[in-house]
Amino acid sequence: MQFRDLNRQYAAMTAEMDAAIKAVLQRADFIGGTEVWALEQRLAAYVGARHCITCANGTDALSLALEAMGIGPGDAVFVPDFTFFASGETVARAGAVPIFVDVEAETFNLSPVALEAAIKRVLAQGALQPRVIMPVDLFGLPARYDKLLPLARQYGLMVLEDGAQGFGGILNGQRVCSFGDVSITSFFPAKPLGCYGDGGAVFTDSDEMATTVRSLAVHGKGQNKYDNVRVGVNSRLDTLQAAVLLVKMDYFDLELKAVQEVADWYGATLSGAFEIPVVPVGFSSSWAQYTLRLHNGSQRDAIIAAMKAEGVPSMVYYPTAMHRQTAFTGASSSRADCPVTERLCETVLSLPMHPYLTEAELERVAETVGRHLNG
Ligand SMILES: *Cc1c(COP(=O)(O)O)cnc(C)c1O
Repeated sequence: MQFRDLNRQYAAMTAEMDAAIKAVLQRADFIGGTEVWALEQRLAAYVGARHCITCANGTDALSLALEAMGIGPGDAVFVPDFTFFASGETVARAGAVPIFVDVEAETFNLSPVALEAAIKRVLAQGALQPRVIMPVDLFGLPARYDKLLPLARQYGLMVLEDGAQGFGGILNGQRVCSFGDVSITSFFPAKPLGCYGDGGAVFTDSDEMATTVRSLAVHGKGQNKYDNVRVGVNSRLDTLQAAVLLVKMDYFDLELKAVQEVADWYGATLSGAFEIPVVPVGFSSSWAQYTLRLHNGSQRDAIIAAMKAEGVPSMVYYPTAMHRQTAFTGASSSRADCPVTERLCETVLSLPMHPYLTEAELERVAETVGRHLNG
């Protein structure tokens, strides 16, 4: 059994995938080919944003967005303490300070209450200028935009949505990657919409922001590639990856339905015995991960060992709070008070989750996990 089975996914779409890849090989337009533009149009329409600019990976997408937003030294960016390292890393790379904020235990996402306290604290201290809130749509679930967007307006902050894990998620009919002033996603193979290598995209409704991001991603280009109006980077999505993603988009809604069925099955089977992920009313998740909250670390160790012995994969996302990462040792970012995140880091466990799990596999997972209720 695989944690996320990309072989089975390929088996479900082999003919179309092979044809799409072959078409690119035959045309040999490997950079900026037809599929890149087609994909950008399709993704923008899918999420409901005016612009989509593809780039080399999700981390670059965050960096490009922060730079286009004008974020740098002296600026504070509010980032959840429970997320993948890139969310905070890119802020520090930009020369700004990531302020790590605690999350809600039930949704794993940025806590609006903790966020407002953090904004007030930074304002009172006066050393940094609060500029951006970076909500993360962790494990596929949109962050609490119903509460976060009003807070952003109230305090005059921009929103940068890190939708790297959330592509396909919905809140009140609105799709992930359309909530931020700028939003990003990642096409890393294991993400909800993954390619066959690295890839990422930036989304925005702002014409000005879109022009800046597109310029930054291609050496700060102006009118053309040899007119350089700013110092940028080289961060593009390959034509081959765009062709792969166009095929995967044909299957994406079916896959979302399938992962929802897996989540429903896990929920019906494991609730009562375990704390299962909570999807509040009005939200729907793209289920990048299905994550249980266990009683304690020793129960988790026992379950991981049992699963391993049975050949059932599991993962701990994430074992370390952002503010406790070695990279932030001694930095002001390390001084965060995030008890919920600390507890999650000790007790979370992610189960196999993908659209191609069979009922027999699900039963094996539930049976193995269920044997350790009192561990
Ligand atoms: C994967 C991920 C990223 C980075 O995406 P890459 O394409 O791997 O660079 C950023 N933020 C979050 C929350 C992620 O899960």
